[in-house]
Amino acid sequence: MGVTNFIQCLFCRGDATNSRSVEHIIPESLGNIDHTLPPGIVCDRCNNYFARKIEGPLLETEHFRHLRSVMAIGNKRGRIPPMSGFVSHLKMPVNVWMDTSAIFVEPKDSGRAGEFVRSLLERPQGTLFVPFPEKTQLEPHLMSRFIGKVAIEALALRVMHVEGWREELLSNEGLEPLRRFVRVGEKPKEWQFCRRNVYRFDQRFRDGTNVFETLHEYDFVYTDQKLLFFVMAIFGEEFAIDMGNPEIQSYETYLQEQNGVSPLYPVCPNR
Ligand SMILES: [Zn+2]
Repeated sequence: MGVTNFIQCLFCRGDATNSRSVEHIIPESLGNIDHTLPPGIVCDRCNNYFARKIEGPLLETEHFRHLRSVMAIGNKRGRIPPMSGFVSHLKMPVNVWMDTSAIFVEPKDSGRAGEFVRSLLERPQGTLFVPFPEKTQLEPHLMSRFIGKVAIEALALRVMHVEGWREELLSNEGLEPLRRFVRVGEKPKEWQFCRRNVYRFDQRFRDGTNVFETLHEYDFVYTDQKLLFFVMAIFGEEFAIDMGNPEIQSYETYLQEQNGVSPLYPVCPNR
């Protein structure tokens, strides 16, 4: 590698010396407050690009809007996106918010609010439909670029206290295709990922006396064959990629060898 007199951005190798943004490895609107990279690792341009081209569009997909609404995680402005529902006897499209104790409903057409309230008073019962988005509605290209972005940043977070880590990551040829895929997005056409349920999205875990919801977590697996897998859970779904190869076969083989046990949950949580 040539010697530069500035701090290189982890993605574009541009100058990150004066960058000011704190990079959220997983967006705040997915509930992340812990996993951040300090300024000077991802340049402002890349930070901005990821927000506009990857995270923003991904979080606006029906799948993530639904999950965020169920989990009641606001976005940066503190708003919670509603789910789309339908009140059958009124043939009325409605916005729905839910948390563990209550359901909030309002007509999408505010002009029908009176009709909606009268109906609630007159009829003791009705049916509210809230369709859960199909699994297939997750846009794969967007999702795999997101997983790749998280993977590279999470790797930086893990090694950033080791001397020479930046040069090591930037000169690692094996990471170059994933880095390009995340930052440019053209080649390869797709980066396959493994997606499966590992626990229900609203499952509560017990840790001593505390009950907490697991929104997301991640880890790396480095195999004897020197394969590097990144595995993350978001709302109970596990997503995994092979960081050195756009095909997922290697991870699937690894999973079979582990009898399907997730690297994130070596001991299965209660189902
Ligand atoms: Zn950059």
